[in-house]
Amino acid sequence: MIGQADILEFLPRTDCGQCGLTCAEFAALLLSRERSPEECPVLHEPDYAGYIEALHELLAQAPPPVMQVDAERCNGCGICVAMCEYHLGNCPEARLGRGPRFHDLVVFHIVNGTAVVVRQDLCTRMLQAAEKCSKCAEHCPTEAISFKL
Ligand code: SF4
Ligand code: SF4
Ligand code: SF4
Repeated sequence: MIGQADILEFLPRTDCGQCGLTCAEFAALLLSRERSPEECPVLHEPDYAGYIEALHELLAQAPPPVMQVDAERCNGCGICVAMCEYHLGNCPEARLGRGPRFHDLVVFHIVNGTAVVVRQDLCTRMLQAAEKCSKCAEHCPTEAISFKL
């Protein structure tokens, strides 16, 4: 499945900050369809000719988000990151109440004060046929998280 690392291959990875984010954060927002490749000004430079088109091709292969965070409702508290069923078993930093580093394998984390889905394929809802996990949504104090499956 296309993931953040695949998207990052086609970003400058200089963390110049012109988009207000790091390149890794920008990649996460491309996957969640909250940003588009054109919004990275550096990709419009001649050295990166063809990168925007390549990113659009990659994103066309990435499944649309099945888990959504309403950015208007989210207050960035991080409870969902700390409580996530997948994180509890696989991400010690989240389990200890610290924000996971961006290269950790996580379902989502906080970017600029908002929870952003990074690897929806890691969410246990993608694997369970019944009794699907909804722990993050249940603990979210603002009811910002919703699912399409
Ligand atoms: S503007 Fe582009 S190169 Fe700069 S941090 Fe954002 S994504 Fe990376
Ligand atoms: S628990 Fe809800 S309000 Fe808190 S960061 Fe997660 S989505 Fe946002
Ligand atoms: S549904 Fe469960 S596994 Fe999926 S993101 Fe929420 S808490 Fe994590």
